Amino acid sequence: MTRPLRADIRLAALGENYAVAGRHAASSRVLAVVKADAYGHGLARVARALPQADGFATLEIDGAVRLRDTGFAREILLLEGFFSPAELATVSGSRLATVVHGEEQLRMLETVRVPAPVDAYLKINTGMNRLGFAPREARRALARLQATGAARSITLMTHFATADGPEGVHEAMNRFESATHGVELPRSLANSAAILAHPRTHADTVRQGIALYGATPFSDRSAQELGLVPAMTLRSRLIAVQEIGPGETVGYGGTFHAQHAMRIGVVACGYADGYPRHAPNGTPVLVEGVRVATAGRVSMDMITVDLTPVPQARVGSEVVLWGEGLPVDEVAHAAGTVGYELLCALAPRVPVVEVA
Ligand SMILES: *Cc1c(COP(=O)(O)O)cnc(C)c1O
Repeated sequence: MTRPLRADIRLAALGENYAVAGRHAASSRVLAVVKADAYGHGLARVARALPQADGFATLEIDGAVRLRDTGFAREILLLEGFFSPAELATVSGSRLATVVHGEEQLRMLETVRVPAPVDAYLKINTGMNRLGFAPREARRALARLQATGAARSITLMTHFATADGPEGVHEAMNRFESATHGVELPRSLANSAAILAHPRTHADTVRQGIALYGATPFSDRSAQELGLVPAMTLRSRLIAVQEIGPGETVGYGGTFHAQHAMRIGVVACGYADGYPRHAPNGTPVLVEGVRVATAGRVSMDMITVDLTPVPQARVGSEVVLWGEGLPVDEVAHAAGTVGYELLCALAPRVPVVEVA
């Protein structure tokens, strides 16, 4: 026997979720966003599972180069672009597409001679206020980019701060449209939330991240309602069962108090595996398909659960931490975070098993 924790990655789910974006944005290209090791699912694995992808978008240049070297011939976009002249040379040499979001990148394009012109996404800041040229600077930045001769193609781009919430994209769209009005270039605006909720943002190229992995970008619409299926299921087993009496406590700090005699299940999975340490008592877990609640603090290698709803549970009983039968979004919500963070945090020590 080995430690029973593993992450199952269902490859077919990636294809099904990719197709959901294609149905919403039927006349757009869909880039599959694979930053952060494909949101914890494994960059190479996800790329292999999606040979039909119109392209990929990522952050890490090494991963982008590796993906190109495996023979993927379509677009690979760097979402923060290049950070140095050497990286710009790599972008050109590996035929990567790059975001151009700021003055420093523009200046490198003006001053560094690239072996071949690159596909550029000129990023405009429409209210997120992280990256991108201010709307009033956009035309000047575009003219400078065009004048470099270093861009083989130019796409106008932005990223929404509130596509997932009640504020929507109205204000950002106004800013984008007034900054780019009359410019005859392709556009890329939409993340998962905008793909699913704001058809007017679809334009030429959409960027599907979280929805590809079967989690929801919204706090008030479940992945299931959206037709998404979980790609990752984090599975383990009970490795011990404790029978405790009223008044006893469980775990570090003794934060869970038994009100009556009860059975506590010990699950092989802890924060060193990527399970959120701040998940409070009551966070949902499946044991033998039955929903139970965590009881006591998450520790490095284990969590503890209240087995009252599942009296048949014993050492070896199957546990799902998130995925099939228990949406990662629900676990994230209980822990005060989002599905994105839990998926990305899957630790390297967790063995991954691909399932069809
Ligand atoms: C991460 C990212 C996306 C994908 O966002 P999701 O909400 O996961 O769909 C799209 N565009 C940019 C610029 C990003 O950084």
